[in-house]
Amino acid sequence: MNYQVDEKGYYGVFGGAYIPEMLYPNIKELREKYLEFIEDPKFQEEYVMLLKDYVGRPSPLFLAERLSKKYGAKIYLKREDLNHTGAHKINNTVGQILVAERLGKKRIIAETGAGQHGVATATVCALKGLECIVYMGAVDIERQAPNVARMKMMGATVIPATSGSQTLKDATNEALRDWINHPTDTHYILGSVVGPHPYPDMVARFQSIISEETKWQLQEKTGKSTPDYVLACVGGGSNAMGMFYHFLNDEDVKLIAVEAAGKGVDSGESAATTLLGKEGVLHGSRSLVMQTEDGQVVEPYSISAGLDYPGIGPQHAHLFTSRRALYVSITDDEAMQAGMELSKLEGIIPAIETAHALAYLDKMKFKEDDVVVVCLSGRGDKDLDTYMKYFGL
Ligand SMILES: *Cc1c(COP(=O)(O)O)cnc(C)c1O
Repeated sequence: MNYQVDEKGYYGVFGGAYIPEMLYPNIKELREKYLEFIEDPKFQEEYVMLLKDYVGRPSPLFLAERLSKKYGAKIYLKREDLNHTGAHKINNTVGQILVAERLGKKRIIAETGAGQHGVATATVCALKGLECIVYMGAVDIERQAPNVARMKMMGATVIPATSGSQTLKDATNEALRDWINHPTDTHYILGSVVGPHPYPDMVARFQSIISEETKWQLQEKTGKSTPDYVLACVGGGSNAMGMFYHFLNDEDVKLIAVEAAGKGVDSGESAATTLLGKEGVLHGSRSLVMQTEDGQVVEPYSISAGLDYPGIGPQHAHLFTSRRALYVSITDDEAMQAGMELSKLEGIIPAIETAHALAYLDKMKFKEDDVVVVCLSGRGDKDLDTYMKYFGL
């Protein structure tokens, strides 16, 4: 079974590039050049240097002993929360800024929901002295003031998206519109494994550093490079894709992707895309999309802004339908409890997105010597307000 993208940009029936004609030249240029860039030794040298000295990689693989004791398995946490800017997103933006430089682009645009990808993009633009414009839903700008301030401090312009529900999907539409209007000087740094080919493959490659490191770290710690289980949360799916990447062909490794059920899968307020979605086209690729009978995109909901997306990357749609990975979902309440539990047991406050992956541990049955790796996609600092309100702290 092949889980990687084919020459036409598809994963099985999913993927492709469903874009307006105005974007053909940009996407064609990117498609023709991205692999050549990434595989160039000079690119690799700079990418590896920045990951090490700027991002702080390799991120530790930590054996969480008290959590392990509670669930009766050996549970390791891949500490993406310790990266510069506090999550895995910077792995991708560092890679894409180097691509943008090689394409000769001087102007960078991005979309953001909670502001995490916007911050990671503003960060690398400051690093390289490039102009940065971030589209963000007006509602999200209201809800995520600290991240808006961070982006502004680093020199980015934040433009409110005022259409639709004024959240992530509307910001993505605005960013695509901007790109159509600036076809020659602008690179669009997409934040997850979504969008037209080659974005899902390019972002997955940049995030694959997560599983690349995990393999040698496990080998050092356990004498074996493959675990029994790997867990990660899924919004668009980039941290999960990075965590799965180098295990895809190790069929003994069980891959578990955790989506946000919000207030419950059947509540009408959910973001459990594989359960609720149908085949459709969203933001330039064919995938699973939450939609009405007549194909209108349904408004998703999750307590965690990073999982609040009505689609899922096309590679995930393929891993789901081919059953290579198991897709499950966790409610707001279950995630909040798991976030509190990790804080109490290990002294690590996780992002609420990440807490969804942790919450699934409670639904699993382990054998004592099972080795489990959870991708700790981000830290909880940004979510303190939500934790405070929820628990009355
Ligand atoms: C953005 C974000 C996510 C969700 O995005 P993916 O592309 O699915 O990884 C998960 N965790 C954290 C901490 C995030 O910031």
